[in-house]
Amino acid sequence: MSNNITKLSLSEASTLLIKKELSSEELCRAYINNINEKENTINAYITLTSEQALEKAKEIDSRRIAGESLSPLAGIPYSLKDNICTKNIPTTCGSKMLKNFVPPYNAEVVDRLNKEEALLIGKTNMDEFAMGSTTENSYFKITKNPRDIERVPGGSSGGSAASVAAEETAFSLGSDTGGSIRQPASFCGVVGMKPTYGSVSRRGLVAFASSLDQIGSITKNVLDSALVLNTIAGHDKGDSTSVDRSYPDYAQGIYQGVKGMRIGLLKELFHDGIESEIKASILKSAKVYEALGAEIVELSLPNLKHALPAYYIISSAEASSNLARFDGIRYGYRTDEYEDIDELYKKSRGEGFGSEVKKRIILGTFVLSSEHYDSYYKRALQVRTLIARDFSSAFKKCDVILSPAAPTTAYKINKKTSNPLKLYMGDIFTAPVNIAGIPALTLPCAIDKNGLPIGMQLIGKAFDENTLYRAGYAFEREIGTFESIKVKGGL
Ligand code: GLN
Repeated sequence: MSNNITKLSLSEASTLLIKKELSSEELCRAYINNINEKENTINAYITLTSEQALEKAKEIDSRRIAGESLSPLAGIPYSLKDNICTKNIPTTCGSKMLKNFVPPYNAEVVDRLNKEEALLIGKTNMDEFAMGSTTENSYFKITKNPRDIERVPGGSSGGSAASVAAEETAFSLGSDTGGSIRQPASFCGVVGMKPTYGSVSRRGLVAFASSLDQIGSITKNVLDSALVLNTIAGHDKGDSTSVDRSYPDYAQGIYQGVKGMRIGLLKELFHDGIESEIKASILKSAKVYEALGAEIVELSLPNLKHALPAYYIISSAEASSNLARFDGIRYGYRTDEYEDIDELYKKSRGEGFGSEVKKRIILGTFVLSSEHYDSYYKRALQVRTLIARDFSSAFKKCDVILSPAAPTTAYKINKKTSNPLKLYMGDIFTAPVNIAGIPALTLPCAIDKNGLPIGMQLIGKAFDENTLYRAGYAFEREIGTFESIKVKGGL
């Protein structure tokens, strides 16, 4: 069985653990073996905590044997993006600035996973402070896409997506400000979920753009995604933007199918700049839904064209303010030599941050400056309202919106970083979702001519993740996960 253990989904592994047909130690060792074998090539992790995970696995096994009843996630290894704080374990944000930062507390999501006794196996590589789409902006290393190691895994949660796709963990958590969970999940052929803003606590997530950031999951399949969300979603008094409401069982109703569901297909799909294979596969996916009994409704988000400038203005403005705390004094990198306090600030920030982060800070301070505030930041906020309205009117006509996850599949390492505008275009389908604060699920739907995964995105109403899971599950049941799409050679 050992070769197949890492192929098990979270839910399959959980069932076998509960039936005592698999031990947590075996499961953990199988993932550690894969890490030992593949990590030199893939580079998904910045810090490994596999030894601690293994010790905990043994303890969980003995308690299970003694008859203790444990939670569904107990004894299952997971990885965590390195901008989510872990007590006594380095949390670098992929930056020289936080290279030696060891948080004194856990993020709320980590406390929740600890309570369920999931096992942290390592912290994953990412674009510095979550700014980027390729994971090439990490200070530490370049992560490879496990589906083709000459290509990027996407970003900024590229290490998380690669760790799941390479079977170096059972599931992962990432953060998504403008697409950083969904785009890498889609580049790596796995499932990404950005939940509704406010449904998963951000306490202990190092902030990039606080009004857009959201923690979510990267998993092998749709059911696993729902199970992870069951653990991490919920009100947290320690996060003032966390929404105090009752949270559903996200796996409830997942098997119900899509009969009668209205699925909106975006006219914007036919814009230039979107690879033709991607357009074609989204149209085919719509046909799959039609055959399953859903109704396809054509619709448009007229302000979509303004979403990217608005996203880059708002996110950079918030980043410039959030990153002001890294001043070389309280924590983080401090330059060796300085004459006075001004020089200490300048040199610490100048040496500690990489070029993408500096670019965003400069852009952010520019759009917030008194001369330019009205023409950039204020207008971006107005666009934000228009986009939210576009979505509200779209959801009068449909229950979920179907779109590509990204306009391209994974590209070669070093290919896009020289052209930032092209890179920023890659967020066209994902960033509007963060601007509106609504949830979206991405899953593999086809394969391109190079054998790379194509991802589709299902966008839902605020707090309506259950409908996304129902639609995602119905599709996956029909088409399969990326491995079976690959065997079939496409849709
Ligand atoms: N690619 C986007 C950016 O660079 C999204 C990042 C994110 O979601 N964290 O800002």
